[in-house]
Amino acid sequence: MSDDEFDAFLTETELSGADDGPLAGRTVAVKDNISTAGVTTTCGSAMLADYEPPFDATVVERLREAGATVVGKTNMDEFGMGGTTETSAFGPTKNPVDPDHVPGGSSGGSAAAVAAGAADLALGSDTGGSVRNPAAFCGVVGIKPTYGLVSRYGLIAYANSLEQIGPIADTVEDAAALLDVIAGPDERDATTRYDAADGGPEEHPAETTSYADAADGDAAGFTVGVPTELVEGATEPVRETFHAGLDALRDRGVETREVSLPSVEHAVQAYYVIAMSEASSNLARFDGVRYGESGDGGDWNESFATARETGFGPEVKRRILLGTFALSAGYHDEYYEKAQDARAWVKQDFDEAFAETDVLATPTMPVVPPERGESLDDPLQLYLMDANTVPVNLANLPAISVPAGTADGLPVGCQFVGPSFGEAAVIRAASALEAAVE
Ligand code: GLN
Repeated sequence: MSDDEFDAFLTETELSGADDGPLAGRTVAVKDNISTAGVTTTCGSAMLADYEPPFDATVVERLREAGATVVGKTNMDEFGMGGTTETSAFGPTKNPVDPDHVPGGSSGGSAAAVAAGAADLALGSDTGGSVRNPAAFCGVVGIKPTYGLVSRYGLIAYANSLEQIGPIADTVEDAAALLDVIAGPDERDATTRYDAADGGPEEHPAETTSYADAADGDAAGFTVGVPTELVEGATEPVRETFHAGLDALRDRGVETREVSLPSVEHAVQAYYVIAMSEASSNLARFDGVRYGESGDGGDWNESFATARETGFGPEVKRRILLGTFALSAGYHDEYYEKAQDARAWVKQDFDEAFAETDVLATPTMPVVPPERGESLDDPLQLYLMDANTVPVNLANLPAISVPAGTADGLPVGCQFVGPSFGEAAVIRAASALEAAVE
């Protein structure tokens, strides 16, 4: 193992897997909100500094059955709340491309581990962009699967209606091969059940698709929609790199056309209301009794308060307070209900766009990775960085981030978004771009 010069890992370990299998001999770094039996799983929080889960997450079980070795648990924004890996209670991770810059987040440790060569592959989780953002910032590939493709059993919840575990790797093919291993129904997560839609396949799509085979570099004949609203917001250098990527795709037989997603103007607001509301409920279990460091002394009320006061960092507290407010009687209709309406509208906009396109393309992040310490003081700025990733989670769709080149010497990612369970299409488009920019 490396000397972890970028502080990507919180715990180094060696959980070896089966002797053979599709991932035999490959090393995997696992985000620290994914449960590993007997190995500390902190969620980047002081609250869980000593927590050792009694069981493995389904994805970890599948990795080991496929022959992979888990080499460590990676640093992350506390409970997944952030986009730079700076809200971790255990200090920041550095971007291996340029250590003065953030690796993105919240799965920053996982992307940095792959970018630094400390692991062949990694798992992150993506609630509003946390796999795609660090993949883009570290110059690697990250996939956010369709909601229900991958089991969340053993993923410590932040906002469970939005999130999926997703693969991170150096190449589209490697990320897709990891998706092949972790995807599929799990009786311990009812949201992975698949109901055959009208005219759709009878089986869960993961059972009948080889995602790795879709990474063949050939997307000729595809129609790629480019949503104007999600390109306009990016900085000039990011836009230039993104457009150069589209040119390269057109040279390889892909047709591009502009599309419009008017609802995405409301996506960041809707996302944060829903994510914080769900977080306020999910994080209630960290009270020092059921989970977390004990608050000691006093009556139960004081003890809970002390545990939560000392165990949670400022960003987590801010979100619990705002989420509790958004759900409170009298305000519920004004915030939570409105956010749910906006969520339905975003879904509808995507459906309309996919009636005339195979996939959509946007810059993954509107900016290049900021310097460490630059963005923490202004939470609103940080939330706005998620403009291009959160609409995908609101609509429960699949997306991938693939390197498109650099701007100001720093990595720029291109995001492809597909229709529900259209992983093969986004993988194919991303592998075409990967081949074109090589
Ligand atoms: N940056 C977003 C947030 O802070 C997304 C995080 C995530 O996907 N876990 O909520």
